[in-house]
Amino acid sequence: MARKNYYEILGVKNDASEADIKKAYRKLARKYHPDVNQGKSEAETRFKEISEAYAVLSDKEKREQYDLGDSQGFPFGQQAGGPGGPGAGFDFSQFMGGARGGRGRRAQTGGADFRDIFSDLFSGAGGGGGGFGQTAPLRGSEVEAEVTIDFRDAIQGTELQLTIPRQKECPTCQGLGHVGNNVCNTCRGSGVITSTDSSRVKLPQGVADGQRVRLRGKGSAGIHGGPAGDLLVRVHVKPHPFFERKGDNIHTEIPITIREAIRGAEIEIPTIQGPVRAKIPPGTQGGQTFRLSGKGVRRAKGSAGDHFYKVQIAVPGKLDPDGESAVDSLEKQYEANPRSNLKGTL
Ligand SMILES: [Zn+2]
Repeated sequence: MARKNYYEILGVKNDASEADIKKAYRKLARKYHPDVNQGKSEAETRFKEISEAYAVLSDKEKREQYDLGDSQGFPFGQQAGGPGGPGAGFDFSQFMGGARGGRGRRAQTGGADFRDIFSDLFSGAGGGGGGFGQTAPLRGSEVEAEVTIDFRDAIQGTELQLTIPRQKECPTCQGLGHVGNNVCNTCRGSGVITSTDSSRVKLPQGVADGQRVRLRGKGSAGIHGGPAGDLLVRVHVKPHPFFERKGDNIHTEIPITIREAIRGAEIEIPTIQGPVRAKIPPGTQGGQTFRLSGKGVRRAKGSAGDHFYKVQIAVPGKLDPDGESAVDSLEKQYEANPRSNLKGTL
């Protein structure tokens, strides 16, 4: 994942002062806050992004770490992502559920005091720092995971049992962060808990090395009845000793005998879809490549790549006298020196 540029996200210079950063954040937060953009997921994404940027840049220590390049971006709710990174422990819900004033609960985000900002931001909106949709449905955060699977599983598709820390609504306080007038003990006021329930995820057939697979609704659970977030799985595929994959095509090298090369043959070619009978035409040269259309990687959407096989001519290791004389007479069959047409000069 590309490192997020928090300065760019907030639209400030790299040497912006604390006050500038706060000002920029305030302006953007007012524009993109979910309460004024009901149901617009784009605004919500943007809001999360600017809040994440602000959480890091407003904290002197985290900002320093970030400036040193210690950040790969901190996806929300992905506690497995980067413990110790400057964004670690940053919790979106901290200022979604509880940032409104008067609860006596501070946002636990290190330096960023979102409660302050938001009571400010919305002081005109509902009076007394209100205007914060305390029980507005919120989509769960996106969660990322990385898996390494076998070549065969990538070709055929597979199901995995993944145990990933995800956030879900605190069952004690239903995501409110408080029970009556007390801070909820289960979630310590955040409104969410981290669950490590494992879940089954399905990777489609044909998934490629380095591909990111989005699994809808497999991320963190929604808050206050909101929809679950997505799970983004980055897939690594182990190489295969025989089949080499390039895109959706498969490449192999097939040894054939001298006789097969000269006289032609029908041989069996192993493909990822099983063995295929294929013809070697008479007079096949070493290095010649043939294609079996549609015998490559099949994708879930119905397309399929091709299978290519490159011929290698295998020479017998030891010849008896008969073999030697056969080869000698074979030599006389060349119409010309095979190297006579080389353009071997600079
Ligand atoms: Zn709770």
